[in-house]
Amino acid sequence: RSAGRCRICGRPGAIRIPYANAWFCEEHFPLWLERRIRRVAEKYRMFEGSRRVAVAVSGGKDSVALLHALKAIGDDAGFEVVGVHVDLGIGEFSSASAEAARRNAEMLGIEGVIVDLRRKYGFTIPDAVRSIRRPACSTCGLVKRYALEEAAEDVGADTLATGHNLDDMAQFVAMGYQSGDVEGLARLRPVIPAGRYAVRSVKPLFLVYERETAEYVRMRGLPMVSTRCPLKDATSGGVVREKMLEVEEAMPGFMMRLVQEFADKVQPALADRYLREGEVGRCRICGRPTSRDREICSFCAVRMRAAGTATG
Ligand code: SF4
Ligand code: ZN
Ligand code: ZN
Repeated sequence: RSAGRCRICGRPGAIRIPYANAWFCEEHFPLWLERRIRRVAEKYRMFEGSRRVAVAVSGGKDSVALLHALKAIGDDAGFEVVGVHVDLGIGEFSSASAEAARRNAEMLGIEGVIVDLRRKYGFTIPDAVRSIRRPACSTCGLVKRYALEEAAEDVGADTLATGHNLDDMAQFVAMGYQSGDVEGLARLRPVIPAGRYAVRSVKPLFLVYERETAEYVRMRGLPMVSTRCPLKDATSGGVVREKMLEVEEAMPGFMMRLVQEFADKVQPALADRYLREGEVGRCRICGRPTSRDREICSFCAVRMRAAGTATG
């Protein structure tokens, strides 16, 4: 099929966006995407009152696109952006990721913080995975979440932004339904207000397709890590994700409607019944918030077991 014309300048388009029924050139697609991210952020009040926003930068395409888009948005809206990278200690993959995070912060002239898991907490993700019989990514996810929240507080941020995209969200929604995880679904939302945690948590890319962040990074020529994580586990979620992209192709906008309707209608209805926001306890070891008071949080449980097998 021949290329259409850029919706903004009328020159030959480089990318077709089926759900918007539009083409864009390489110059205008990134600008159009930033505007969309900004509109979503405004609609969901992600940065209301924000002065300093910590952006979780793994070094992958979503987080790199997020960092650059939020820098542009923050310059206009009056908040500052700090990149926060967690070095997971996964060999070559982690050193390449840290390097990508560092180069992007440098390119934007912003502060970039690297939290080294081994140095700060005494273990790496490979240590944790060796010591615990559960999928690598679920352990890694909870460790990253904890380290990012603490780092965001340490750098004095009021908001923490993560790069979860629309494909991630659609997968979480589908998997949550499949397993009947109503509490997990009730917690799945684009904005988690400060309260239990000191810092508000936002997902500005939750309505942006993964393909769009990939194109943004490619068109802008931004540094990113392209090595795959050697610990990535094959999950049923990955299959669901792929099949949903097939549905998307047949019904452009399917995933976006699924996630948007979930966020606007389903999650709020579930929250009334299943979200226990008020009940905040403190971890007996680290003192950070947990669901039950004086119990050991899941991070400390991982850390204790991992420390036993830690190398170096
Ligand atoms: Fe962690 Fe899994 Fe991502 Fe590797 S693929 S960095 S183990 S979440
Ligand atoms: Zn154009
Ligand atoms: Zn703890």
